[in-house]
Amino acid sequence: MSRPADIPGDGRPDLAALVERVSAARAAVEARGETFYQGASRIYLAAFPPKERWDDWVELSSRAWPAREEHHYMLVPTTCFNCESACGLLAYVDRGTRQVRKFEGNPEHPGSRGRNCAKGPATLNQVTDPDRVLYPMKRAGRRGGGLWERVTWDEALDAIAARLRTALTEARHNEIMVHLGRPSEDGYTERVLASWGVDGHNSHTNVCSSGGRTGFQFWMGIDRPSPDYANAKVIYLISAHLEAGHYFNPHAQRITQARGNGAKVIVLDTRLSNTATHADYWLSPQPGSEAAMNLAIASYLIRTGRYDAEFVRRWWNWEQYLTGCRPDLPPTFGAFQDALGELYAEFTFEYAAAESGIDASVLAEVAEVVAGAGTRFACHSWRSAAAGNLGGWQVSRTLFLISALLGAVATEGGTFPSAWNKFVPRPIHTPPHPGVWQDLSWPLEFPLAQNELSFLLPHFLKAGRGRLDTYFTRVYNPVWTNPDGLSWMEVLTDEEQIGCYIALTPTWNESAYFADYVLPMGHGSERHDTHSYEQYDGQWIGFRQPVLRAARERLGEDITDTRQVNPGEVWEENEWWIELSWRIDPDGSMGIRQYHESRARPGSKLTVDEYYGWMFENSVPGLPERAAAEGLTPLAWMRRYGAFEIASGQGGLHEREVPEEELRDVAIGPAGQAYTAAPVPASTNIVPMAAPGPDSEGRRLAGVMVDGIIRRGFPTPSGRLEFWSSTLADWGWPEHALPGYIKSHVHPSALAPDQMVLLSTFRLPTQIHTRSANSKWLDEVSHTNPVWIHPTDAARLRIARTGDLIRVETDIGYLVAKAWITEGIRPGVVACSHHMGRWKLTGHSQVSAGGMMATVDLHHDGDGWAMHATGRVKPYRSADPDTARFWWSDTGVHQNLTFPVHPDPISGMHCWHQAVRVRPAAPGDTHGDIAVDTVRAREVYEQWMTLTRPAGHVSPDGTRRPRWLMRPLKPSAAASALPADGPGGGPAA
Ligand code: SF4
Repeated sequence: MSRPADIPGDGRPDLAALVERVSAARAAVEARGETFYQGASRIYLAAFPPKERWDDWVELSSRAWPAREEHHYMLVPTTCFNCESACGLLAYVDRGTRQVRKFEGNPEHPGSRGRNCAKGPATLNQVTDPDRVLYPMKRAGRRGGGLWERVTWDEALDAIAARLRTALTEARHNEIMVHLGRPSEDGYTERVLASWGVDGHNSHTNVCSSGGRTGFQFWMGIDRPSPDYANAKVIYLISAHLEAGHYFNPHAQRITQARGNGAKVIVLDTRLSNTATHADYWLSPQPGSEAAMNLAIASYLIRTGRYDAEFVRRWWNWEQYLTGCRPDLPPTFGAFQDALGELYAEFTFEYAAAESGIDASVLAEVAEVVAGAGTRFACHSWRSAAAGNLGGWQVSRTLFLISALLGAVATEGGTFPSAWNKFVPRPIHTPPHPGVWQDLSWPLEFPLAQNELSFLLPHFLKAGRGRLDTYFTRVYNPVWTNPDGLSWMEVLTDEEQIGCYIALTPTWNESAYFADYVLPMGHGSERHDTHSYEQYDGQWIGFRQPVLRAARERLGEDITDTRQVNPGEVWEENEWWIELSWRIDPDGSMGIRQYHESRARPGSKLTVDEYYGWMFENSVPGLPERAAAEGLTPLAWMRRYGAFEIASGQGGLHEREVPEEELRDVAIGPAGQAYTAAPVPASTNIVPMAAPGPDSEGRRLAGVMVDGIIRRGFPTPSGRLEFWSSTLADWGWPEHALPGYIKSHVHPSALAPDQMVLLSTFRLPTQIHTRSANSKWLDEVSHTNPVWIHPTDAARLRIARTGDLIRVETDIGYLVAKAWITEGIRPGVVACSHHMGRWKLTGHSQVSAGGMMATVDLHHDGDGWAMHATGRVKPYRSADPDTARFWWSDTGVHQNLTFPVHPDPISGMHCWHQAVRVRPAAPGDTHGDIAVDTVRAREVYEQWMTLTRPAGHVSPDGTRRPRWLMRPLKPSAAASALPADGPGGGPAA
């Protein structure tokens, strides 16, 4: 038999030749203008199952080869639940066993286009994980004592519903809180909370992305960018988007596509990330200097006149800036251009070089590349620097300054406001927003916070600023994920502060150990959700579904409850929330039940089929018609294909003229805003206009007058892009109202001579916090987090070899980790991935080992907490033979425990970077050891709180927070007014 050309004499495949051959074949196909897949992906896919054959897809068994043993599958779409990208998955349901055999990509998904990262297929590990939580559990003994008993769903539901009912009838609405990890769905949980009348939504966003969001929000009135990478000429990333950034698989594939077309990629990352390795320019700056670098580039564009002056004239709120800040100048665009040059003249390449450590000549070269991008400049800044530094939100604000100068806003190859590339349909019932304000999440000290101050909750509880009767975590692990996790543990174990803690989770985790109830929730193939995320210039909606339910229904079975198909008694959240809400309000007298009741069958419970069926039928444009063309209902169509593209190639919605019918009783505001008394049209999903009206009649902002025409504009107070933020100026921060540079808390001038910066914000591509827990394939690839350290620092600190143990000392304790000596990190900086260091407590025998968990002893020795591993990962026997093959024992170190809270006074973001001292480990130290002083943690918290400017002192209008800013569960106007007393309350100064 002849050998294929790619298999040389030694029998090993020549991978380089193979890659080249596939690339050439792909290029040839694309050159002919063909795509291999004609569905929503519209791209080359080397292999895919055509949708016409999804009911009976046949593959040959690889194990039986050369015998031709056929496997017959039904392919059922769902959505990955492992990160916010929400990629499409296809579950291969074995028609014989009716079990899922594998997950691959869904080529009908317009965002992910048939592709996934490693975490998508690893959903199978999560589904079959022998250590997962399968039944409702209730603690038996003291909280955190490690003893559990199995209870029925009825017992758990009745007990929890009774607590909630009592709290609500006693008007203790603010004692109920649901704390979500990454939501991975659009609005269902918020709707449930609204139906209860509570402002109890808490999120992880202020330990994740609110710094990045804030900078975009003050510019656009929308908090996320949506770069059109595929069509860009220059891509500028302050994040690791090719491996772990926001929407990383959908974005990474489009960045790769652009690179193939010749786009230049510029990456600012102190660490040599996978993304940096693919960059044309990798800049490794001093952490916290990124905004200075952005401003140097912006300054270059301004002083060389390489910016789109017409775009700036039409779309920036420069007139407001002149009125507010430069009344000495004539109100002309020419005067503004002169002022603009003066404003940024100090940000020379030399200045940025001094701050960042990047050569001025390199910065000049990069600036020239950026200038050449024109309107094809796509950029993103997400966690990374914006999440690491005091004032990190200015990183994204200064980044968008470059886009706004180039006019690269909502252009082909430019950067869009996220809301224009996202679609959130109306649900069947919409309860009103609550009439209460949750001070524990939205404290008065942070009136401009982008999201809930979730990570300060333990300190607020300890300070007596409130208590929680019932606290839910939903697929969230605050002890592990947040900084200062042992302060979390202290409040979770205190029944005075948290009356009842309920963990809704598929797997055991470091917070669930301290719960009263641990309730098993489904993974990505075991639950319903809808979602839509900005991943290209288009809008789509995706549908997550319990795949075995969909498969068995396709085979003619009648499934009425997801527990009938899920393993054990695993439930899905939607059905659980409906059931819980009914038990809180069994006779409807509390006004809750109506929002969880069937419309078709009044008096009976809403089903998920009716909920999603109504939504797809009534509020997703184009879907009913598409479904009807195939003889399907919209719900059946979504169950079959999993995602629907509503629009693509929309372009700049801000330029669209507002239709006449939307301009009833129009009034023009001082900045050209067009306020109207016309009702909000059904299609307002396009541009959410959130700004309040100028008059007592509550008119809404519908657009903005630009050169005599009322256009959609942006949902900011001015309707334009806000170069100067009147909100920041009016709410106590006038010195930061323009895109600018705030020196970080880890700026070199703030460090002691023996301190370094610990960069702790990066992800690994193959793990996702604790959500990817117990995925054996992922754990085998990534199971440790050594500390990156430059050879010069290692030599200076007498760290001889990679693998040597080191102590990293923070403000509140220390961790013991292994060193990884590498030139992939800037000297003076160390870095540690935040995914590792999973643990379970000694004595928690009912908590299974899990692939990634060490067993630890945790005790308070008078000076503080000490954690020490007493057992490592080792092979063990279970229903899965692979658990007996675990070859690794290292689980890394849980560094977040040693970090105090650092709330940014404006964005509310936790500023993750730490000033640390690094030294060789002390005698007796072992890998993974932790020491933490939570008293000291409280002192650091109090120091950072002194940076705030409370609403009671700065609010210009007697409200707690600008009403136009985005917020889940926007409370009523009355609840949004400043209280007469309380922290930061009282009359404005
Ligand atoms: S984990 Fe990977 S496959 Fe899953 S949604 Fe995220 S990027 Fe997509």
